[in-house]
Amino acid sequence: MAAAGAGADITGMTEPNDPLPADDAAKWRWIFSTGWRGRCPRCGKGHMFSSWLKVARRCEVCDLDYRFAAPDDGPAFFSLCIIAFPLAFVIVWLEVAFNPPLWVHLFTSVPIMLFGCLLPLRPIKGWLVASQYVNRAQEAGTQGLWARMHGSDETRSEFDQ
Ligand SMILES: [Zn+2]
Repeated sequence: MAAAGAGADITGMTEPNDPLPADDAAKWRWIFSTGWRGRCPRCGKGHMFSSWLKVARRCEVCDLDYRFAAPDDGPAFFSLCIIAFPLAFVIVWLEVAFNPPLWVHLFTSVPIMLFGCLLPLRPIKGWLVASQYVNRAQEAGTQGLWARMHGSDETRSEFDQ
């Protein structure tokens, strides 16, 4: 009888000669590792940055064109939200817990704030560029695979009753 289920079996569908990770977990691992190290999101070898925060024009290894990457104010915004607010709490806690003189803040809070906001910019930008590349490549290059992995979407209407 026809209750044969929708494709819930996602495991084992990784295509070995596809350079892009096929499932979501692997995809985000790839984005995290290439972004964190500032590596090319296609080959994982070339450099993503030509300077501190400047995205390279091309990957020197696989010739990936980085013009797709435009996360200009994204990193600053993320950095602010993720880093600055918790840091502000730490600084307020320092103030309340130890009530230090002002010069202590100069040597603790100010550098913490500065490095806390500046240092994560590069990995955050790397993550954004890598995720842009992976998601875009997914749309363009691995549509078939993506459709198969998410084939259950088509049968979802069965449950909308
Ligand atoms: Zn590359």
